Amino acid sequence: MNEEIMRKAGFGKEVDRVKEGKCPSCGKKIDTTIEFRDEVSVHEYMISGMCQKCQNEVFRK
Ligand SMILES: [Zn+2]
Repeated sequence: MNEEIMRKAGFGKEVDRVKEGKCPSCGKKIDTTIEFRDEVSVHEYMISGMCQKCQNEVFRK
């Protein structure tokens, strides 16, 4: 995630949440050692910072 671009786009609050280890979508504190069910989810977390539950909702088909 490019922090400066995100802030300019109006996502400053979300960027701050990710920096605190929280999901940018729901604000839940994420424990990376227990949160994710598989490597795909961990990879998505690296990109979006979202917790497992929010990933499920976003990517639900
Ligand atoms: Zn979440």
